[in-house]
Amino acid sequence: MLTVQNLTVSYGGSRPAVEDVSFEIKKPALIGILGPNGAGKSTLIKGILKLVSSKGTVLFNQQPFSKIQREIAYVEQKSAIDDTFPITVRECVSLGLYPKMSWFKKISKAQWEQVDAALEKVNMLSYKNNQIGELSGGQFQRVLIARTLVQQAKFIFLDEPFVGIDATSEQVIMSLLRELRDEGKMVLIVHHDLSKVDNYFDEILMMDQHLIAKGPTKETFTKEQLAKTYGAALGLGVL
Ligand code: ADP
Ligand code: MG
Repeated sequence: MLTVQNLTVSYGGSRPAVEDVSFEIKKPALIGILGPNGAGKSTLIKGILKLVSSKGTVLFNQQPFSKIQREIAYVEQKSAIDDTFPITVRECVSLGLYPKMSWFKKISKAQWEQVDAALEKVNMLSYKNNQIGELSGGQFQRVLIARTLVQQAKFIFLDEPFVGIDATSEQVIMSLLRELRDEGKMVLIVHHDLSKVDNYFDEILMMDQHLIAKGPTKETFTKEQLAKTYGAALGLGVL
């Protein structure tokens, strides 16, 4: 369960990027976070994950972030991990193990097997010894998903994971995310391709600085809510 109460994040401008957002997600689900450019979607995630300072309360299974940090995985927007950083695919995925172990411990054989199993799941095992800089955007995104798999996180946050990637990678990732949801994980995805929303998400949050709507996709992804969420953007012709 994820509880967000009165979350406000300001970067010091005249208005907060995210203002007074409250919602609760009770069951494992695939949740889409929707809203126009600049709506505060990335900021909402950063606020939830304490990556920016915020006001309000966030609880993961009734626990504060500090208690449950290891159970949380986050793949940021256009991953800021430098993909020219000289590590292999296998090493990159193994970074997901670190929240679970003391930093000075060596990775065991069993753990390397876990890494390989995760790579197999995203169809990237044959690239395990490649440098991450050699991968396409979609392949790299799959490797980042494999990293969250080895972390065995219960809460998974992905910020626009499908931007600039190939259709195959998108399908591989999406079917894996469905599996994770079925295993009881909570998966929150910032997403902007409105054509896929019905197909991808159990629930959606629609926002533009404030929370505009939240609920099961079928009932919530309506013309009326779209107009409320994207009204300003539509008026400006930027959608
Ligand atoms: P979205 O992800 O929905 O496109 P963001 O959360 O990135 O929106 O941004 C929300 C607002 O906060 C925007 O007006 C953006 O310019 C501003 N913003 C985002 N990050 C920063 C930052 N680090 N410093 C100052 N303003 C920021
Ligand atoms: Mg964003």
